[in-house]
Amino acid sequence: MSKLWIGSHIDMTAPDYLEGAVKTALSYGASTFMIYTGAPQNSIRKPIESMRIQEGRTLLEASGMDASKVVVHAPYIINLGNTVKPETYAIGVEFLVRELRRVHQMGFTMLVLHPGAHVGMGTQAALDSIVKGLDEVLSQDGTNVTIALETMAGKGTEVGITFEEIRYLIDHCAYPDRLGVCLDTCHIADAGYAVENVDEIIETFDHVIGLSRLKVVHINDSKNPRGARKDRHENIGYGTIGFKTIASYVHHPRLEGIPKILETPYVNDRPPYALEIALLKANKEEENWRDKLESAT
Ligand code: FE
Ligand code: FE
Ligand code: ZN
Repeated sequence: MSKLWIGSHIDMTAPDYLEGAVKTALSYGASTFMIYTGAPQNSIRKPIESMRIQEGRTLLEASGMDASKVVVHAPYIINLGNTVKPETYAIGVEFLVRELRRVHQMGFTMLVLHPGAHVGMGTQAALDSIVKGLDEVLSQDGTNVTIALETMAGKGTEVGITFEEIRYLIDHCAYPDRLGVCLDTCHIADAGYAVENVDEIIETFDHVIGLSRLKVVHINDSKNPRGARKDRHENIGYGTIGFKTIASYVHHPRLEGIPKILETPYVNDRPPYALEIALLKANKEEENWRDKLESAT
């Protein structure tokens, strides 16, 4: 049986940064993890020299993790699809060039990016603006880091909510070899896909985009019914998707080798990831597992 690469997003914070993130991941029983290079809501970034990269890399390798399975997520505020405010677009391009270089300097190979939002100008305008932005970024950064475009829930004016929209970006970008995809189970359900038909979803993805493009799977339950376009993640088994469907993605033979990353909410101010990872690894549904966190003091 091949190794299951499963983990969660982890705050990379002072003073231990990457080394601390690896330790946290190990404490969850994870085999990989996802980090932001700073706060997800802003683009302020510390110099990479202060982020304990070498220490983190050493620990990561000593622990049987694989740097090629570690994921970095770009901040949410980047919007290459904004054709209303040129400065938002320009800040996005500039930030992404530097972010890709940071990811490369850390020794990682994957950056997840929310494609963008059209802010009233319509999906097509945003898609074309994103293509232009990706071309600018990828012509400048000088790395070989893959940008994994995330499938979005359709909240607000988000684009990249269908596989066809993601395919459009890849088809029109001048650097398609640098692009991959991050499939988020909560987002595709919110966008209207029948997430529970796992084989069918994977087949459709393969047909529209090509399964070789799939680099990351975000493993989240959803607080809302299919098509709600809300993007509210729920703990595994507590939402409308349910444990069985989520576990099918985690263990699906066609998704073997692809990192699976939880972005589920904290419970009682505590990270739920050790429990969720254990249940998903064992592929065993357990009712009321959150009670353990809710009753803890
Ligand atoms: Fe995301
Ligand atoms: Fe996600
Ligand atoms: Zn989300």
